[in-house]
Amino acid sequence: MFYTSTRDNSIRVTASQAIAQGISEEGGLFVPVELPHFSLDKISSMVSMSYIDRAKTVLREFLTDFTEDELDYCVEGAYAAEKFSSSKIAPTVNISGSKNILELWHGPTCAFKDMALQLLPYLMTVSAKKTADGKTIVILVATSGDTGKAALEGFKNVDHTKILVFYPVDGVSPMQKLQMTTQEGNNVAVCAINGNFDDAQSAVKSIFTNAEIKAELAKKNMMFSSANSINWGRLVPQIVYYFSAYCDMLEAGRIKLGDEINAVVPTGNFGNILAGYYAKQMGLPIKKLICASNSNNVLTDFLKSGTYNRNRAFYATTSPSMDILISSNLERLLYHISGENDMLVQELMNKLSDEGRYTVSDEIIKKIQSVFDAGCSAESEVDDTIKTHFDSYHYLCDTHTAVALKVYDEYVKNTGDDIPAVIDSTASPYKFSASVLNAVCSGNLPELNEFDMVDELNKITSVDVPKPLALLKDKKVRFKDVCDKEDMSAMVFKLLNL
Ligand SMILES: *Cc1c(COP(=O)(O)O)cnc(C)c1O
Repeated sequence: MFYTSTRDNSIRVTASQAIAQGISEEGGLFVPVELPHFSLDKISSMVSMSYIDRAKTVLREFLTDFTEDELDYCVEGAYAAEKFSSSKIAPTVNISGSKNILELWHGPTCAFKDMALQLLPYLMTVSAKKTADGKTIVILVATSGDTGKAALEGFKNVDHTKILVFYPVDGVSPMQKLQMTTQEGNNVAVCAINGNFDDAQSAVKSIFTNAEIKAELAKKNMMFSSANSINWGRLVPQIVYYFSAYCDMLEAGRIKLGDEINAVVPTGNFGNILAGYYAKQMGLPIKKLICASNSNNVLTDFLKSGTYNRNRAFYATTSPSMDILISSNLERLLYHISGENDMLVQELMNKLSDEGRYTVSDEIIKKIQSVFDAGCSAESEVDDTIKTHFDSYHYLCDTHTAVALKVYDEYVKNTGDDIPAVIDSTASPYKFSASVLNAVCSGNLPELNEFDMVDELNKITSVDVPKPLALLKDKKVRFKDVCDKEDMSAMVFKLLNL
């Protein structure tokens, strides 16, 4: 299996080159040249497997330059039982009727990013050995909250790697901030920036492709790579859990082999839902991929109209991991849907960076709409959804998951399409305790500090508090730097002692 670039499809690289490098030289994203196909028989054979074996079955097809031993080492290390609070790793919980919640937050940082970021450091160190012998890999991360912590936790103390994380100073929840600023490890650094996530992401992207900085790094035998979902090594682990959820639903007798399901995804950078698209293209019977956004509904507008326009107000919402106006992975979808048209992708992405907007042809948007549906949820609806799902089903969900549930309810109301659905649940409710408690208490949020809120939410709901969050209370803050977005490259030099 080879990979090419969305902006130059004459390029051919192996999986390990794509993963070690992170982003293609000319700024495009790596994509598989062709996808493996999974027959229903093959899917059926995965039902009796553990999550680890399901993961190997999917990843083997994509990481064809990894040996079987390397694959075992990576997957078994990433999804080791002691790191996850569920033996199923990503369990599927039926809460009522067609709603099956795929809980992707049982990893060490209590958000779905762990599903990929526990595996990525393994994939990257194995890849680097094959392609970048002896170099230290410098991971630069721009985070809207959850990626930063999950990447820090995944890469901490991993030999031949360093990791630097930038987060928007006012754009993450208190719990997310504490998780990052207390991070342990001898190869980690964290810095806040005065700006929002898009500012951080744009700056990281330009640092990556800055020839001068790269040359300085090379002198020190270092190279950049990315742990953001622009890295193929972040996306490929996410394909696994769509297959796994389907197998779990088969096993539970909620569907029969070959039955179609819908998948509902609370979306920010379009990585998670794109993994669902790949699963569908590989033969998993997914009917519609339903893209759920919060008030930052740039994707809803695009999927409804064909015009992507980031020139709009930016809202800081209670689902901060989706407060994004530039969804990087949409570039990969545009590449595939347009029939691998790299020139078109380049033109659209240039328009996006020059004018902040682009419009695709009728043909392209119709093709996209045959696979994707979309909706968005206002802040008050998020609160109502948390409360009604708790009151009706005793299911406590976080704010991001609530966005998906609300959009799904609207979808069923508008279309009548109530075949079994997988709804991705992307964070533990305790990661956003203030918002969730406020919703459960119908807006009468008691005046409490972050940890007392966790206790109060636990008292009211009797839902267990994940251990990693409970332990945060006693950790020391290690990282207090804040910089302007213009100064991020200087900060990179400082943090790397260049
Ligand atoms: C990252 C994140 C999302 C958005 O996922 P994308 O792959 O960026 O679309 C949604 N919810 C939570 C809790 C997240 O951490």
